[in-house]
Amino acid sequence: MLDIIQLLPDHVANQIAAGEVVQRPASVVKELLENAIDASADQISLVIKDAGKTLIQVIDNGVGMSPTDARLCFERHATSKIKKAEDLFNLDTKGFRGEALASIAAIAHVALKTKNETTEMGTEIIIEGSKVVSQDVVVATKGTTISVKNLFFNIPARRNFLKSNPVETRHIIDEFHRVALAHPSIAFKMVHNGSDTFNLPASNVRQRIVNIFGSKTNEKLVPVSEHTDIVSAEGFIVKPSFAKKSRGEQFFFVNDRFIKSSYLHHAVQSAFEGLIKSDTHPGYFLYLKVDPKAIDINIHPTKTEIKFEEEHAIYAVLRATLKHSLGQFSVAPVLDFNKDAGFDTPYAYASKTPVAPTIEVDRSFNPFQTESKLNAGSSSKRNTFKEDTTEHWESLYSGLQSDTDVVVPKGIVEQDPEAQELFESDAALPQKVTFQIQHKYIVTTIKSGILVIHQNGAHQRILYEDFLKSMTLNEAVSQQLLFPLVFTFTKPQLVILENFKEQLTHSGFQFSEWNEDQVGVKGIPAGISESIVEEIFHQLISDFENQVPDSGFSQNDWLAKSLARSMAIKTGTVLETEAQEHLIHQLFACKEPSVSPDNKLVLMTMNATDFDKKFM
Ligand code: ADP
Ligand code: MG
Repeated sequence: MLDIIQLLPDHVANQIAAGEVVQRPASVVKELLENAIDASADQISLVIKDAGKTLIQVIDNGVGMSPTDARLCFERHATSKIKKAEDLFNLDTKGFRGEALASIAAIAHVALKTKNETTEMGTEIIIEGSKVVSQDVVVATKGTTISVKNLFFNIPARRNFLKSNPVETRHIIDEFHRVALAHPSIAFKMVHNGSDTFNLPASNVRQRIVNIFGSKTNEKLVPVSEHTDIVSAEGFIVKPSFAKKSRGEQFFFVNDRFIKSSYLHHAVQSAFEGLIKSDTHPGYFLYLKVDPKAIDINIHPTKTEIKFEEEHAIYAVLRATLKHSLGQFSVAPVLDFNKDAGFDTPYAYASKTPVAPTIEVDRSFNPFQTESKLNAGSSSKRNTFKEDTTEHWESLYSGLQSDTDVVVPKGIVEQDPEAQELFESDAALPQKVTFQIQHKYIVTTIKSGILVIHQNGAHQRILYEDFLKSMTLNEAVSQQLLFPLVFTFTKPQLVILENFKEQLTHSGFQFSEWNEDQVGVKGIPAGISESIVEEIFHQLISDFENQVPDSGFSQNDWLAKSLARSMAIKTGTVLETEAQEHLIHQLFACKEPSVSPDNKLVLMTMNATDFDKKFM
């Protein structure tokens, strides 16, 4: 009989193994940073080019390697960290599988330069797709520099599978944060495309968190501290009032290793129950220490999931500890017996008899009057529904004749044969009627029956098409602000916003400054109100964190959707009849009026036949 089984050559086996360890540039970042930590470095720099697709480099001042070790470290199952199986249950290093460098070298061009304390000269090794290209003796200082270029050069399918640069950068920053938060006593630096993204000096945990997430974070943190026989928990939780819609800041570290655990996350969530809104997420930075013998880290190749021997007990301790911290935090003001002087009756009034206040109403006061005068100059096609008044409703159309305006001018309904058909007044229908139901739907009579429109969905559709067009054609109309608005963001937030800077400019935002933690805005898209600009940016960031957009094209699309979502008139908004009609007109000027940007139904008709069926 013919034997058909054979052993795979090493480079093939390595490529297969690499699939498990290296999913994307961020996986390489994690492995290299962890190796540097295991080498006892106290200064680690990460250099990235093109989201890691061109270069990932980690420079450390750790123990370095001898020339022989430098050669051996690229072999599979080559590790200095464990010697026997029992060591697996007493780990104090990040790595132990001896797989990372072998895997990375199998699918990239790698250059290693290293020197340890005992050798005079350093070693440089170039290895490409598991093949050693050269080994040289070089001048070097103690420590190791590993450069990984052209990741997945020999696996085109994997390379093509990589996401856009903003997405891959986001993953890299996430890994960088995790490692940097786990080791606050090590100084970290990250340089992306030549500019410093993070520069984190050695510090304590609180300072590290603040250095990463911005100075405003400091006041949001509530300390956590508990020590029991099975687990000790230290760290911080974010005050409930700062809970966010996105799951941004949730970190568990077990024995200095970032881990994911939905079970422990549940413990945190249940401690926050009743203190935060159901659609928000608690923020936490929790550092657990358990006996290494009581956990198994080796259940997943990337070592981000672990098994605890005493899972239930840890859950209970964690939940109780957090409840205690939260309790201390929210109970504290009540137990503060320093009375608030503001509530005392002023001395001069103490003997006077109180008089019931009278109410005076100016019945002729019209809150919209001055507003509409103020707005008269900047007629807009976007959401000024609240400000619109009956008298000025016609003015909503003024200026739309200019070439730069996107919305088809007044009368579009008559020009569109189908819509014309829809709206043509029937002899039996003396007057077109438009009204709102539950401040959510707009109902209007049409020739054949009625038309029901979801006001929020409809407005999203209008804004979405509008923004998409402005972004593609770069022809948005900006309204200049007298006083620029300045917003403070955390670094990660700024990194996200930066991705959209160009498109935001195309959609009408003008920036006066853009520095370390602040963004100044001097112009905003015509028609939007200054007061919602900050909310728009925050919504954009949280949308991004929740569902990261992909390629360049869909990034425009995604941004337009996000902007439309945050700016569209909300369900519950009262609309004047004219505003209702205006919305209908604009909707029918859209390319796809029947669905929202998220493909939800926006309008529906019911005609006499539908009614007939109901009344049979
Ligand atoms: P592991 O970390 O699981 O041991 P790796 O493939 O990541 O496996 O690394 C193999 C070995 O190479 C390590 O055990 C270590 O001895 C050595 N090594 C890797 N990176 C460094 C570094 N930055 N400094 C010193 N030694 C290193
Ligand atoms: Mg390693």
